[in-house]
Amino acid sequence: ALHNSLVELKGNIRVHCRIRPFLSFDNKLDGSASQNCPTPGEVVHAADDETVLVRCALPGRPTTDKTYSFERVYGPAASQAVVFEDLRPLLISLLDGYNVCIMAYGQTGSGKSYTMLGPHSEDDPTLLSGAREDLGIIPRAAEELFRYTLWLISENPSRSPKVDVSIVEIYNNNVFDLLAKDNSTVMSGTKFQMVSTQEGRSEVPRLTCRAVTSAVEFVGLIHRGVKLRVQHPTLVHKNSSRSHLMVTATLTTASSLGSTDPPGQALARLQLVDLAGSECAAVSGVTGSALKETSFINRSLAALADVLGALSEHRDHIPYRNSKLTHLLQDSIGGDAKLLMILCVSPGQKHMAETLRGLTFGARAR
Ligand code: ADP
Repeated sequence: ALHNSLVELKGNIRVHCRIRPFLSFDNKLDGSASQNCPTPGEVVHAADDETVLVRCALPGRPTTDKTYSFERVYGPAASQAVVFEDLRPLLISLLDGYNVCIMAYGQTGSGKSYTMLGPHSEDDPTLLSGAREDLGIIPRAAEELFRYTLWLISENPSRSPKVDVSIVEIYNNNVFDLLAKDNSTVMSGTKFQMVSTQEGRSEVPRLTCRAVTSAVEFVGLIHRGVKLRVQHPTLVHKNSSRSHLMVTATLTTASSLGSTDPPGQALARLQLVDLAGSECAAVSGVTGSALKETSFINRSLAALADVLGALSEHRDHIPYRNSKLTHLLQDSIGGDAKLLMILCVSPGQKHMAETLRGLTFGARAR
């Protein structure tokens, strides 16, 4: 259900593709192997910094090569630091008032959480306990943001920049407020409301928004939010995420004596999203309530594709409201906002069908 009309979309949308290392579970055959490529092995490679090469060797047939271009391609050896380094210009554009969204897209097990948050073990689902160099984009961006606030203060002490954070999980098209005092706060149906502020920002009035004063505090909130995230095991990967995680940080300058800025003037908003797995139900082998989850995931990702398609066609109406995911992202996708999608892919033959689907989607989105 992904759009064909994404082809012309350029400029404010960039796609980086990250191929994760080949892991022991990539070799296990469980009947989900792609029909085209029934033998296990490593088939997805970084041909160069901008090209993904998919090499498929069918028994008794010539090897077929397919290539896909992206703004940037990372092979399995790329470190978290290297991946983050390329995002820095995007984050700096927050200071010029641009809203920025960075999201990880890909099938379950392709490395989205690793990329956005960092490594995690089954005993420790908090994800942020790894060594410093293993930290993913979200904690790194939190630190970067506070570096900017210090810089803003040093430039003009009267501006006193403020960072407000909200963290939500979108599960079955319901919005869970992960910072609410009462952890069970769900916003669905009429409880979910979005309004425009005087500064032209979209706000969800009932959503908890916490002012943070340091990167440590920010990372602490992320830690807490991630712990609460709903997880459901599928056959593809234990602990697979069936929900979207969204961290929103709004940078504003507070009013203060002698300041020429109007009170509470928004600088910009940063949204960081770890999307749910993009695989279809048939691949995951899910049934029952998990199948319901899968159809909600597919619908929200299709809604995302529809929004990107409508933007590329410069349509008057952008269908942000078709899903909670796109509705919540409306300030940071479209207009002059900058979107970076990190397409995560597994290198193994076993995941080839989903990988090709993801590569085609990602290549169209840019
Ligand atoms: P997803 O969030 O897409 O379901 P994960 O981030 O959980 O996928 O990654 C699946 C597994 O692969 C995890 O065990 C993770 O630690 C590992 N992994 C993913 N990317 C990398 C990487 N770049 N380097 C090392 N291990 C990785």
